[in-house]
Amino acid sequence: MSDLKVAIAGAGGRMGAANIRAIAETPGIAVYSAFDRAGTPVIGKDAGEQAGLERLGISIGDDIDAALAGAGAIIDFTAPANSVALAQRAAKLGLVHIIGTTGCSEADDDAIRAAAAAGARIVKAGNFSLGVNLLMGLVKQAAAALPGFDIEILEMHHNRKVDAPSGTALMLGEAAARGRSVELKTHSVRVRDGHTGAREPGSIGFASLRGGNVIGEHRVILAGPSERIELNHIADNRALFAEGAVRAALWARDQAPGFYTMADVLGFN
Ligand code: NAD
Repeated sequence: MSDLKVAIAGAGGRMGAANIRAIAETPGIAVYSAFDRAGTPVIGKDAGEQAGLERLGISIGDDIDAALAGAGAIIDFTAPANSVALAQRAAKLGLVHIIGTTGCSEADDDAIRAAAAAGARIVKAGNFSLGVNLLMGLVKQAAAALPGFDIEILEMHHNRKVDAPSGTALMLGEAAARGRSVELKTHSVRVRDGHTGAREPGSIGFASLRGGNVIGEHRVILAGPSERIELNHIADNRALFAEGAVRAALWARDQAPGFYTMADVLGFN
């Protein structure tokens, strides 16, 4: 089978660069094109050099049509509006679309699912690591086994992150909600400030910390009357997410059009 040809969205970003490096180390997949927002300083630079590798001879462009013509997949860790627009293009072109972008609204997610129904092969995950996807199963199990325990999710990320709670924290919250057979959106407390009153029983609380260069740390706390369980995940390197995204792209190539998560890729569903 020929190499899967990947268009890298947001090639000038931290994850864009990590995705280029991960592809370079993986057989069966190749960087085909790279693009970023018009007007950003990376436009015109070589995608390999931008990622800290040797020259690839692929210049980072701002023409999306040109970047997607002839590609088989898009790996996209960018921004919600861009990911929605790319999903719609992926549907028209029948492409694999790997979406790592976080901070999507419900309407964004609906539009992405509609694009999957219209012909794109989409894998979307707030976290592409094996460990976090395994942790989701453990959190679901713990939430179901300990019905009276208060669940709180704490996350910390670097000081450039623009959305909160993190996509991973929300995935872990969804897993806890599934364990309790409730909807996260009607049971979550995403911020607390001032005179909040006592904790609502059965709610799932979130807290977000930002600082320094922290790649991603998550703690799920299940607090009972006289004991507490804490489940932690610490990402040591962005390569972790990029390796998961590359694995998802190769997996999605052989799937029918539709919407998938990393749990599908890993066979956890
Ligand atoms: P970053 O700011 O370093 O990079 C984002 C890149 O996207 C930038 O180069 C930006 O110019 C580009 N971009 C934005 N809008 C664009 C558009 N319209 N067209 C083309 N390019 C566009 O951020 P990052 O740290 O690389 O993270 C990117 C996203 O990935 C965030 O949402 C982050 O939360 C998420 N993320 C997800 C995972 C995961 O496993 N799912 C892991 C890490 C980061």
